[in-house]
Amino acid sequence: MKTIVLGYPRVGEKRELKKATESYWKNDISEDDLSLIASQLRKKTWRTQQDQGIDLISSNDFSMYDQVLDICITLGCIPERFKNLNGLEQYFAMARGYQANGIDVTAMEMTKWFDTNYHYIVPEFVKNQTFNLNSDKIINEIKEALSLGISSKPVIIGPITFLLLGKEKEEGFNRLELLDEVLPVYQELLLEIDKQGVEYLQIDEPILATDLSFQEQQALKKAYKYFSEIKVDVKYILTNYFDCYGENLELALQLPVQVLHIDVVRCSMQLDDILKTNLIGDKILSLGVVDGRNIWINDFEKSLQLIKKAQAKLGEDQVWLGTSCSLLHVPYNLELEEHNAQLKSEVKQWLAFAKQKLQEIMVLKQLALNEKNDTAMSFFVKNKKANNSRKVSALIHNNVVNRRVDNLKPTDSERVSQFSVRQQLQRKALKLPLFPTTTIGSFPQTKEVRQTRAKFKKGQVSQDEYDAFIQKETEDTIRFQEKIDLDVLVHGEFERNDMVEYFGEQLEGFSFTKFGWVQSYGSRCVKPPIIFGDVSRPKPMTVKWSSYAQSITKKYVKGMLTGPVTILQWSFVRNDQPRSVTCNQIALAIRDEVRDLEDAGVKIIQIDEPALREGLPLRKEDWKAYLDWAINAFKISASVVKDETQIHTHMCYSEFNDIIESIAQMDADVITIETSRSEMELLKAFVDFKYPNEIGPGVYDIHSPRVPSQEEIEYLLDKASSLLPSGNIWVNPDCGLKTRDWPETKTALKNLVQSANRMREKVTNVV
Ligand code: GLN
Ligand code: ZN
Repeated sequence: MKTIVLGYPRVGEKRELKKATESYWKNDISEDDLSLIASQLRKKTWRTQQDQGIDLISSNDFSMYDQVLDICITLGCIPERFKNLNGLEQYFAMARGYQANGIDVTAMEMTKWFDTNYHYIVPEFVKNQTFNLNSDKIINEIKEALSLGISSKPVIIGPITFLLLGKEKEEGFNRLELLDEVLPVYQELLLEIDKQGVEYLQIDEPILATDLSFQEQQALKKAYKYFSEIKVDVKYILTNYFDCYGENLELALQLPVQVLHIDVVRCSMQLDDILKTNLIGDKILSLGVVDGRNIWINDFEKSLQLIKKAQAKLGEDQVWLGTSCSLLHVPYNLELEEHNAQLKSEVKQWLAFAKQKLQEIMVLKQLALNEKNDTAMSFFVKNKKANNSRKVSALIHNNVVNRRVDNLKPTDSERVSQFSVRQQLQRKALKLPLFPTTTIGSFPQTKEVRQTRAKFKKGQVSQDEYDAFIQKETEDTIRFQEKIDLDVLVHGEFERNDMVEYFGEQLEGFSFTKFGWVQSYGSRCVKPPIIFGDVSRPKPMTVKWSSYAQSITKKYVKGMLTGPVTILQWSFVRNDQPRSVTCNQIALAIRDEVRDLEDAGVKIIQIDEPALREGLPLRKEDWKAYLDWAINAFKISASVVKDETQIHTHMCYSEFNDIIESIAQMDADVITIETSRSEMELLKAFVDFKYPNEIGPGVYDIHSPRVPSQEEIEYLLDKASSLLPSGNIWVNPDCGLKTRDWPETKTALKNLVQSANRMREKVTNVV
């Protein structure tokens, strides 16, 4: 019985990689410095797993930015516009765009990795796409591990997931047609990997957790048949995670690979399905029993049942134990929270981060093999005690909250009047110009802002000093927005570290880590709160800064809230009650906040739901149930206001085309949405569906340091207004500006206001 870890976090316990990468971007450190830091991080990761005794340790789970971008580079799938660049410069240009040395290229698209909050770079394909083995990253990492005495198991993204996650950038072909082109390059790669004496190669095909067409299934068959015919000694581990194999199970069982991995945390039923058939043959079954997506300790009793079941049927040699998916999605190490007073020890005993999960795997193995040594047994007893204490803990259960959720009525999720009525009332009340301009909420979080917040948290800056500082930043930002003549202002969110953490910190039922960083995209990390108990709001959370900002300007300032689905989605969520119940609890807390903002005189309130889409189950048959409760939760939070109060929502970095009807059901008066990287592609859906409410398609890609020109923005707006009624169009960036610097922000927003002015000149007689 071998132990396997599908992948490990890579940004560093203290976000070393993030810091190094950003220094490199600023030219503060050299490429060599960055490489050195990266290799030190890999070494530490490998040693940690080796020390715990893990058998199959990954290499190539490290990435300077993203593993999908890595496979693009490896396979030579590099869009034409980056061909004048090379090496790391090219790599980061693909991720972030590039504007220097007379070159000006836009970044590749970025979107969410399945149902996680991790973002990957979307591969781009053209009709005559060619591929070539273009990088030795994988080989180098195998060698690097070997030099430390570790025979690693490299991990790569499989060809079907690679192709299906990408996009055709030209009409007239289907990306699956490129399979024949790409397979020979995989072959070359596999031969290279084999030469290194690698025993097992992990090929990730999480696309198997989604609905696949007949043609896509055939492509899988073809690819793996092809792989099986390559003369190599290396054995293939095929992995799928985040959901069941579902309809693809039979196919997966028949693929000619030596090991099949299943995620039994997300889908334990499939174990029975697999064991029922004899299709597994002499394949090894790798059981992902330790949750790579959440931070709760394992339930040893439950896991052992599953393991024993598999063992009984297959024998211990044919069963492996490991993580459900890569540990990329959980923080490094709970030990770092030793001095974290915020994280109660009662809660801490229920938690396991990456390092602790390694230990769990090892103990589970010993228990499964009946090695009842003292350590394993005491671990087992501790585990059982902790899990039992969670069921009855007074920290978790709040009857008042539960009663409120039980008493929710359908009318609690409906505005007073329908949109057409509200729109008229709002036009009268707000008197905004055509093509109103606004931003999404945050303004640059400069070093000074972050340092002052950090000092405040450490007690080195007093509450008064901190408030004065935030007030000054807010005021400056309001004045800047007035100066460039934006129509609807924001306060800038300087008091917020993160759009979820800020709310979680003020809500009951949440806990926080000090070092619980998880990669979100590239160098960007988030520290998801832990929702351990029933959620309630002891007092207003945002009224102070919103009403301050409103009090110093005649223009409208949007109240700025994070929606219930996003708070849920970007937190580590309880696994002891349905997500829908937790979501309704949060919705009620936000609803109270919305009411308080309205009472304080705020006329426009934005409730961000960027994570709505990523909460979608991977299989279509499960969508409706999710959308029903998620949309309803948003509406519970938004529907408490008068008709004249304008509710905005904001979404970003997902494909929204397929849930457009549900987005319409949210019934927000205005939605601002990401579209600029995909050149308004998204708007087609809004048009086909005749989206009834107002919409601000993002015209400035804020995930890139590029400054869009006025012409560029106008081009996008022209496109938008050829598709939508001009009277319904807002002009805004894609997302919040917190990651940008002031100079680029200023220029870009000035350009944005000017293009709105130009649009108004063009379209004077509408509405
Ligand atoms: N209001 C948030 C901000 O501007 C929205 C961020 C997001 O959508 N991810 O930062
Ligand atoms: Zn956004």
